[in-house]
Amino acid sequence: MSEFSDRMAAPGRRIFTNRNLRMESIEAIGFDMDHTLAVYNTENFNHLCFDLALERLISDHGYEASIRTVRWDPDAVIRGLIVDKQEGNLLKLDAYNHVTRARRGFRFLEKDEIRQAYSSGDVRLSGQRYRIFDTLFDMPEGCIFSGLMDLKENGIACADRSADQIYSEIRKTVDTMHADGTLKARIMADLGRFFIPDPDLVAVLKKFRKAGKKLFLLTNSEADYTAAVMDFLVGGDSGSWEDLFDLIICFACKPGYFLPKGEAEPHEPNTLELLPNRKGQCYVGGDCFFLEKQLGTGGDQILYFGDHTYGDILRSKKSVGWRTAMIVPEVEQEVQNLRPLRNDWRELATVEEDLDTMVVRRDRLESTEKPDQKELLELQAAIGEALGQRSVLQKNLKAAYNPYWDSLFREGRASSRFGRQTTEFACIYTSRVSNFLNYPADKFFGRHLEVLPHERWALSE
Ligand code: IMP
Ligand code: MG
Repeated sequence: MSEFSDRMAAPGRRIFTNRNLRMESIEAIGFDMDHTLAVYNTENFNHLCFDLALERLISDHGYEASIRTVRWDPDAVIRGLIVDKQEGNLLKLDAYNHVTRARRGFRFLEKDEIRQAYSSGDVRLSGQRYRIFDTLFDMPEGCIFSGLMDLKENGIACADRSADQIYSEIRKTVDTMHADGTLKARIMADLGRFFIPDPDLVAVLKKFRKAGKKLFLLTNSEADYTAAVMDFLVGGDSGSWEDLFDLIICFACKPGYFLPKGEAEPHEPNTLELLPNRKGQCYVGGDCFFLEKQLGTGGDQILYFGDHTYGDILRSKKSVGWRTAMIVPEVEQEVQNLRPLRNDWRELATVEEDLDTMVVRRDRLESTEKPDQKELLELQAAIGEALGQRSVLQKNLKAAYNPYWDSLFREGRASSRFGRQTTEFACIYTSRVSNFLNYPADKFFGRHLEVLPHERWALSE
């Protein structure tokens, strides 16, 4: 097999379908840049951001030098976690917004503590109290927050700052570093360290074009940064990356881009070296109504690829009815880790079904007037054994996931909040854009049959 076929045959590079999507009916395909077309070397980028932010907290916000003892841990946070600024916790929520795990510093709260702190069960995320980690850009600040909360809890630093103040100062620091050019200057000086060029990117974009689709780039990044990054990733002659797109929009300010703004006039950046600025092709700002007018298509005839759960996927689907393809780089590793465990997964399902059946039998037996004690004892023993088997299998499967937070997509037997949002708002999801090379350009992506609990029971053997 060629190097290309090897790459593409990796199980983690499939496209997964939540809603039927007929590629034939798509007229324009759009792409977010950062963490979508542009694959960051997340370890290098996040570590740099972490280091610079710690130093800024000391120099600009007067934090003690002892905060330098906080160590970068790439596993400290996963996407979808929520910061509770009031309590100083990081939270994982299930599909119904119930808090299932809470970590303050490096300590996970006990069930009772969680119940006390979040007595209403579900949390209302709309207020100022919470912030959601929707992108991989949020990972460094989550790691710093845990580290500083740990120092505070242990009386080592941050004694006179509230959790709210600590998180707000971290957020402000990271936000400023993105916006004032600090991070981007470092990245642009060494693009090879911070990005992983995808050898199949150009091929997939050309494939879409050949199939007659209009292509556009829609990014929140500034025009000069976009040009530098795309130029590096696409290669070839300087500026030639623009030929791949019919329309390029930088500094889009998503999610606001998807809401009517009235007078949001886009302008053409005509002073940039890397953007030759062919008339009518490249803009800064504006809104999605301008974009749809330029492309001559809109709504569900547009498919948009993005990584940001809210800013790219949820908003574009809900506000303007675009079809959505979510890029979840984490899927590649998760699938790779899960594949060797598929026998355990199947066995777990069988054990759980057996357990269900035995528990129903036991309950029925116990509710009779004179239960057969021998049968009851036997059943209890079998249930005990099945529970033991279940916990061994669950432990094996845990190894596939994050050591602190488990799976990105699930929480126990149900979806996590992140998992639910992905299934609800992303028509399809995959680890990277070039995975489309594995599929025909007019592919019909059909979703799998959803089985409800009563159907599963009625139709099981
Ligand atoms: P996109 O994903 O291509 O739309 O663009 C992401 C852009 O948002 C990049 O230029 C990031 O540097 C920028 N960004 C990410 N996080 C923050 C933040 O916290 N504050 C300001 N800009 C950010
Ligand atoms: Mg992005």
